[in-house]
Amino acid sequence: MAVAKFEVPELKEYPIIPKLKKGAMAHSAPYVAKEKFQTPLGYPGELIDNWKEVAIEKMGELTNKYRSLSVYLDSCVKCGACTDKCHYYLGTTDPKNMPVARQDLFRKVYRRYYTLAGKLAPKLVGAEDLTEEVLDDWYTYFHQCSQCRRCSVYCPYGIDTAEISMAAREIMDTVGKGQKYCNEIISKAQILGNNLGLPEPALVNTLEGLEEDIEEETGVVVKMPLDVKGADVLLITPSADFFAEPHIDGLIGYAKVFHEAGISWTMSSYASEAANFGMFIGSYENMQKLALRIRQAALDLGVKRIVFGECGHAWRVAYSFLNTLAGPFDFLDQNYPVPQHICEVTHGLIEDGSIKLDKSGNDHMTLTYHDSCNVARASRMGDKPGGQFTIPRDIIKASCNNYYDMPEHSIKEGTFCCGGGGGLLTDDLIELRVKGAMPRMQALKQVTEQNGVTHMAAICAICKSQFSKIFPYYDFEMDQIVSVHQLVSNAIVLTGQTNGESDDEDSTSNDVETA
Ligand code: SF4
Ligand code: SF4
Repeated sequence: MAVAKFEVPELKEYPIIPKLKKGAMAHSAPYVAKEKFQTPLGYPGELIDNWKEVAIEKMGELTNKYRSLSVYLDSCVKCGACTDKCHYYLGTTDPKNMPVARQDLFRKVYRRYYTLAGKLAPKLVGAEDLTEEVLDDWYTYFHQCSQCRRCSVYCPYGIDTAEISMAAREIMDTVGKGQKYCNEIISKAQILGNNLGLPEPALVNTLEGLEEDIEEETGVVVKMPLDVKGADVLLITPSADFFAEPHIDGLIGYAKVFHEAGISWTMSSYASEAANFGMFIGSYENMQKLALRIRQAALDLGVKRIVFGECGHAWRVAYSFLNTLAGPFDFLDQNYPVPQHICEVTHGLIEDGSIKLDKSGNDHMTLTYHDSCNVARASRMGDKPGGQFTIPRDIIKASCNNYYDMPEHSIKEGTFCCGGGGGLLTDDLIELRVKGAMPRMQALKQVTEQNGVTHMAAICAICKSQFSKIFPYYDFEMDQIVSVHQLVSNAIVLTGQTNGESDDEDSTSNDVETA
């Protein structure tokens, strides 16, 4: 077990609602962004003198602009249905991590300045002035929300704490109190094209190395094309796929799928990132800048389709917002969804028999599947309701012989967050991440003990990084988390080019020109 400087929650046999411990996580807050990470995003470098006036004004702007936000703030009846639904409350026991309490941090200020009752008799309606103490509470507890939307599923009014959390972060950024982790990443992606700041030569190097690895292992030449003009598909994938484990095994899986199906494809060094952290800080403008890079890359390379790799929140931004952020995409082939998820592509190819899978390639594992929040509760896949649940599971089941779901309350639309989503995947929040992962770990432990599950598959770069980091705190091994396309990669039957001999029919980069 990893050594922790805090108490790691005990995994119980059945989920229980913990006793409240006031202020249990009051000490947990991420590093504040310095000027060099604030100003490139258009925010003040530090807390401005008139921060209070600016914050209240921004609150008014946001509640006018996003009607959903004011509806959420006005409609809570304090029924309590959401109180035990947040993984951060269940894992930390801090009452301010109950979704309704988190919302109230925002709501009490909104009531004070934007409702008549709050202006006239604040105490009667739970309205409060915006003070430095309140701002600190915001910074602490709105960075203990992974914007996973689980609470909204159980709220009879559908109140979405994630949107309130995004608005709070946007207000804090506007007055100069942004979060270092998110804002540093957004700057890198805007300047260099990806969250990791990987320059083009590093990408070329990595991809060449992967091609060699695949050929060595399989005897088949599978291309990893970059900046190839005229390819049919532009793959936009999280930059973690280029180097992290198990992400990179997923990237190998996508390449094998495209190869085997004879689809010409490319990645882009200009838009080498699917993730869009602009969403986590609630910033439409910053989200749009990243989305426009994808549009530009698609135009420059002359592709016909855009396909997204395994990344949860990236798929939410792509599925729900890409067309409004960076559309119209009328220059793409309208016979395909714009955009499309790699799981939709692979699923279709399995269904029509274009690729064959040998399940025995994964016989050394017994699998379960973690539904990533943003895919489960903020998007869809395919053309049927619930496709985001069935399509990844169908792919896994087609790739392996041994599969078991975790308990029903912890999967599909009730899935528990990995504990590191929403811009919280940073070491300065490790205690929160470990504690927030508790409900997922409990469900995983259950299928491990009852069904002999050895590995958990996921289609989100953040979930994969989070699990490989926090598994050791709960006596699991880091490599028990796998990519869904890693399973495809292990099972896919490769034909075509072998031993480096060219076979034009199966080449992924025929009739294309390197940009
Ligand atoms: S959105 Fe998720 S993390 Fe945020 S309060 Fe709701 S359940 Fe908790
Ligand atoms: S479930 Fe909805 S209405 Fe009930 S307390 Fe929570 S946010 Fe308010």
